[in-house]
Amino acid sequence: MGFSFFTSRAGARLLDRIARPGVSTAALLFAAASGGGLVVYADSAAESAPEPSQDAPKKKVLVLGTGWAGTSFLKNLDCSRYEVKVISPRNYFAFTPLLPSVTCGTVEARSIVESIRRILEKKNKDVTFCEAECFKIDANKKTVHCRSAVGTNLDGNGDFVLDYDYLVVALGATVSTFNTPGVLEHCCFLKEVEDAQKIRRCVIDCFEKASLPNISDEEKRKILHFVVIGGGPTGVEFAAEMHDFLVEDLVKLYPAIQDFVKITIIQSGEHILNMFDERIAAFAEQKFQRDGIEVCTGFRVIKVSDDLITMKSKSAGNEVSVPYGMAVWSAGIGTRPVIMDFMQQIGQTNRRALATNEWLRVRECEGVYAIGDCATVSQRKIMDDISMVFKMADKNNSGTLTLKEINDVLEDICIRYPQVELYMKSMHMLDIADLIKGAIGDSHKESMVVDTEEFKKALSHVDSQVKNAPATAQVAAQQGQYLAECFNKMEKCKEEPEGPLRMTGGSGRHFFRPFRYKHFGQFAPLGGEQAAAELPGDWVSIGHSTQWLWYSVYASKQVSWRTRMLVVSDWTRRFIFGRDSSRI
Ligand code: FAD
Ligand code: MG
Repeated sequence: MGFSFFTSRAGARLLDRIARPGVSTAALLFAAASGGGLVVYADSAAESAPEPSQDAPKKKVLVLGTGWAGTSFLKNLDCSRYEVKVISPRNYFAFTPLLPSVTCGTVEARSIVESIRRILEKKNKDVTFCEAECFKIDANKKTVHCRSAVGTNLDGNGDFVLDYDYLVVALGATVSTFNTPGVLEHCCFLKEVEDAQKIRRCVIDCFEKASLPNISDEEKRKILHFVVIGGGPTGVEFAAEMHDFLVEDLVKLYPAIQDFVKITIIQSGEHILNMFDERIAAFAEQKFQRDGIEVCTGFRVIKVSDDLITMKSKSAGNEVSVPYGMAVWSAGIGTRPVIMDFMQQIGQTNRRALATNEWLRVRECEGVYAIGDCATVSQRKIMDDISMVFKMADKNNSGTLTLKEINDVLEDICIRYPQVELYMKSMHMLDIADLIKGAIGDSHKESMVVDTEEFKKALSHVDSQVKNAPATAQVAAQQGQYLAECFNKMEKCKEEPEGPLRMTGGSGRHFFRPFRYKHFGQFAPLGGEQAAAELPGDWVSIGHSTQWLWYSVYASKQVSWRTRMLVVSDWTRRFIFGRDSSRI
């Protein structure tokens, strides 16, 4: 599927360069590979700071998960400062954006994974890894309960308990079926490496089965109907991969049954790729129509049986059942049970993900941080703190604010409440004076003195700009890097805080700047060597050149030179020999 996930300024610069013609792929690969990651700043104060000291024993940092967030944290953490333990039921990092390519053999599964031990080995410090699943977090006792993923000891016990000073929860999300009957039993998913491998085998099984002599035409049509449920980036990329596999490889290998093949995407919204710019969605729909991929929009799947998918039209309300051979469910993500249990413990019920503050610490939970898909940052609303912000700005206690008084603290306000800047940008305002003028009218322009009520009025719409970051690798990687850097500079920042002024609770400055997500654009590969990209600044790029951009970026973003070489050689192999359709 396709979003990109630049985590670095180098990445952003890279994208600028990519947008310019004449930059070769090799140059891009080199540039990105040598670049590191965005030094994202951040922090908080009472937000539970590690207290490093030369003599004291090292604080224990326990990391749960080795996905995008956990691995980015580990890669950037100065492990010499802490005693680090890592828990994950998978002893590797998987480059999920290339999972759809694994489903059809464009890229091999082993090319997109890197052993976590190899990643940790490069840190040259004693970091412990345990292949186990965490099934309970006990924040009161500061312990985590784990179960081995590789069997038990001689006593038949596979459980153990670990304690921590700082816990980094990076457990990701799980698939959500929205309790649709039959989905768990009959659909394939596309979340883990095993899922992609299973789909690859299933696709070939369908073709082999449809080639048997005792199969009627009607049955062939059913077996070779591939249905993708969910028209987001993953579903769309899988459908495009499937179509390429079909027209580039399978028609030659199974000429007798090629006319029976059909690919359908079922999407509950009005358009596929609805999180992208509408130009991209429209292009994708037209392209799929030309390719013969059926796009059923406005339909919600309500039941799946072993041979029928039943969906309901959202507008007309009628139900339609279609026979299918293989169905891939990629309609949404849900909460892992261990996260759900933890949220209940700490009183965060009825949520999809753990709420953290702007410094990524789990709200009301000392020493516990959550990053990636299992967490959402809940940005504080400025209107909740407006009286305190006013008081802090009113240096001379006059009960009014002059423009100078506001400007003196404006930078801190914008760092603490990024929505202020976003709002001014969205309203095309040049500075805070424009915002104030909008509220109190031009008559006050000369003096520009505002009282509490006028200040409140001026900022009253600002919080509408608070947005949740999407559940993407791009966000997870930036959060992992940000948090690691906070841990690395904890000592320094306690002496010289670099965060904004504290608006609420206490005086002085926050240790760090809050986490700020930087969006570097997203991709949607559409098959036939064409892709669409949405880049910052409403820049949209579609076509063959964008597909080359996609190749460059995805190769450059690989976690190691080994996987980078493997992925590039897989692509080359596919260009020369096609995809392998052996069912192993
Ligand atoms: P994950 O990467 O899912 O990692 C979770 C980790 O926790 C894993 O190591 C897992 O083994 C471990 N774990 C799970 N349960 C336990 C447990 N009980 N105890 C201990 N460890 C546990 N995003 C993009 O930005 N661009 C893309 O192109 C893109 N393409 C995607 C394509 C597909 C097919 C999929 C499925 C996702 C894609 N995403 C993409 C989204 C991206 O993969 C996720 O947003 C990202 O993986 C989130 O990172 P994470 O670290 O929070 O979770
Ligand atoms: Mg004043």
